[in-house]
Amino acid sequence: TFTSNKIAAGEVIERPSSVVKELIENSIDAKASFIQVEIKDGGTTLIKVTDNGSGMDKDDALIAFNRHATSKIYDSSDLDNISTFGFRGEALSSIAAVSQIILNTSTGDQVGTQIKIMGGELDNIKEVAFAQGTSIEIRNIFYNIPARRKFIKGLSYETGLITELITKYSLGHPHIRFKVINNKNIIYDTAGKNTTKSRLKEVFGEELGSKFIYSEDEVFAGSELKAWLAPKEFSKSTRNQQLFFINGRLIKSKELSKSLEDAYHTFLPKGRFPIALLDFTLPFNELDVNIHPTKLNVKIYNLDFLVSKLTSLIKDTLNKTNL
Ligand code: ADP
Ligand code: MG
Repeated sequence: TFTSNKIAAGEVIERPSSVVKELIENSIDAKASFIQVEIKDGGTTLIKVTDNGSGMDKDDALIAFNRHATSKIYDSSDLDNISTFGFRGEALSSIAAVSQIILNTSTGDQVGTQIKIMGGELDNIKEVAFAQGTSIEIRNIFYNIPARRKFIKGLSYETGLITELITKYSLGHPHIRFKVINNKNIIYDTAGKNTTKSRLKEVFGEELGSKFIYSEDEVFAGSELKAWLAPKEFSKSTRNQQLFFINGRLIKSKELSKSLEDAYHTFLPKGRFPIALLDFTLPFNELDVNIHPTKLNVKIYNLDFLVSKLTSLIKDTLNKTNL
């Protein structure tokens, strides 16, 4: 299984920011209201994610590192109704196979557990005093896969990817406080229990943050589309500031990007892209998130319908508000 873990690691864990993504998704799944990410050297020597979520008891903590160990799915029919980010049980085993890990965790009502793992092998387990929540410290990622280390670009590039990812996640989860420490410096720290409106100001600054226009549509029964649209003069030369969340999951979608751009089309010169945050709540059986290990791409069953609804919502809003 060590080899298969290393192979799985290649699929899920491409670079330090992929580790951060998996860990913060786990923290969100564990209902944390505070997530702190500490990194050193672009995450290559240290990634430490601490949360105040549910925590794990000793038995759960031990099996969390087994391949396909997940507490989030009980049988394969659950795959049609995935409400959590995790479900494949691959992230921790994959990360463990290519790094050195120290996990501290506690459910709050009993003594905590500390587990050390070296290159996929259990090194040590003991009881520790620990407040409710989980802290996972990952050192020297890819130390045992030199080939993978070559994919790491400059440390400031990797740091940039990580902070960008956390900033984006923080927009989709404004009720959670996110804090980022890079080489001992606090570089991002939001308020907790925030609304999207105030989180937009934290991220984009007062000037742009206060100008987003909000509109919503029900799309189909039981679902919701919330759109936060920036005025056209704040357009960018990249698509980097188009954020799509589906059920809290940050995704990429060419079709949704195109829909957004079509709607802004008459207002923007060529080569300029709108800034927008689109937050969809869809019934879990409307989408398949199980098409790629990183879950960045999802399959939406009624995509054409969704795209047309989105385009008209945005067009209407832009026309009405003269954005
Ligand atoms: P998945 O998220 O797909 O279930 P992971 O490998 O990411 O798989 O995590 C394995 C299991 O470890 C999870 O199902 C969960 O039970 C537990 N776990 C991981 N991270 C946390 C956390 N931050 N808080 C509580 N439990 C966690
Ligand atoms: Mg997970």
